[in-house]
Amino acid sequence: MKYVSTRNSNIKYSFEEIFFKGLADDGGLFIPENFYKLSKDEILKFSKLSFQEISEFIFSKYTGETFKKDELNQIINNAYKNFRCQKIVDVKKYKNINLVQLFHGPTLAFKDIAMQVLGQMYNNLLIKNKKKINIITATSGDTGAAAINAFKDNEKINIFVLHPNNKISDVQRKLMTTTASKNVFNIAINGNFDDCQNLVKEMFVDSIFSKKINMSGVNSINWARIVAQTTYYFFVYAHFAKSNNDLIFSVPTGNFGDIYAGYVAKKMGLPIKKLVIATNKNNILERCINSGEYKPQKVNESLSPSMDIQVSSNFERVLYDYFKKDENKIKTIMNDLKFKGLFNIEKNILNKIKEDFDATCCDDSETCKIIRDFYDYNQIIVDPHTATALKISNYQDYKNKQIFVLETAHHCKFPIAIKKSLNKEIDFPNFLNINNSEEKFEVIENDIHSIKNYILSKI
Ligand SMILES: *Cc1c(COP(=O)(O)O)cnc(C)c1O
Repeated sequence: MKYVSTRNSNIKYSFEEIFFKGLADDGGLFIPENFYKLSKDEILKFSKLSFQEISEFIFSKYTGETFKKDELNQIINNAYKNFRCQKIVDVKKYKNINLVQLFHGPTLAFKDIAMQVLGQMYNNLLIKNKKKINIITATSGDTGAAAINAFKDNEKINIFVLHPNNKISDVQRKLMTTTASKNVFNIAINGNFDDCQNLVKEMFVDSIFSKKINMSGVNSINWARIVAQTTYYFFVYAHFAKSNNDLIFSVPTGNFGDIYAGYVAKKMGLPIKKLVIATNKNNILERCINSGEYKPQKVNESLSPSMDIQVSSNFERVLYDYFKKDENKIKTIMNDLKFKGLFNIEKNILNKIKEDFDATCCDDSETCKIIRDFYDYNQIIVDPHTATALKISNYQDYKNKQIFVLETAHHCKFPIAIKKSLNKEIDFPNFLNINNSEEKFEVIENDIHSIKNYILSKI
């Protein structure tokens, strides 16, 4: 299996190369030359396999020569050994709503499912290559915690996580800052999430600095994260919905990573009828699907902060498919985005996109109402991200259809949203044991030199 960039298909890469690079040098995203196609029979046989076995099977089709069979087996099994649910992912049914619980990992959000695999893969490759790396990432909450948990206590890796000072929930902060591990460095930036992200980007493009420290990134454009996430789409079908050949998935969406994994599963042969892009008031994708215009606006803070995004990076990957792998077209629209602040998708292509995708948008007051209604009917509390994905079930076209809603986080991570919706105080579960642990983080000004000096002093 070889990989190319969405902006240049002349250069071919191995899995290992794209794993370490993350983003292509030309600014494009890596994609396999072709998706691996599964037969109907192969997919049905997944009903006899565990989550780990399905994951291993799928990864083996994408990792090429990078790992031997027993190495891949060890990577996957180690990745999931700390999950609190033996099945890894479970599905709970409430009439026609099927909640796909993706939050049984160590930091209570779906990001653990892929990040734990990345941690094991880095470990394997760094030992083999005798390399050390420094991972630097910005977070609005969940990514940072998942990454810290996956990379802590690893001698080959230092991880630096930048979060906006005083702008994430106590729970989210504590999940990151109570790790007593020597290779974890939390930095609270006096600024907002965009400032954190810009600082990280600035360090990446400073090739002298990034080469000097062997810098690596783990954000959601990494192809390995996408592959890890396709697993639960197959798992849900094989274990919970075998007879349903018109699957509908509704997915809380920000950077388009999670839902893109569903699209990949469909391309690989899974009978998915519709993927519903659920957004909060930062609804760039909903506007795009319904009007054809992709135009980022200012980011608005919402009750579902992990979806407060205006540029959905992974969207470039599906567009590449709909544009029939025309890299020049991708380059043109990405230039338009950069210099004109928007691009437009033609009607005929938009209609094709709408065959696969639908889109909704949900503001904070609707989010609270959905949490309240779902609790009233089912006595189950859903988190505010998941709530946005429940909205579609009220639409005429979807009423009475079986809908699989990805439950991307445990509600206890978002006590403020729950208090607003249900007037209930939510305790943090005791099994996490972080309430009284000492927090460790450095507050640093929003200034590139201060950050670089801090990082250099720690490695
Ligand atoms: C990251 C995140 C999302 C958005 O996922 P994308 O892959 O960025 O679209 C949704 N919900 C929660 C809880 C998240 O942490």
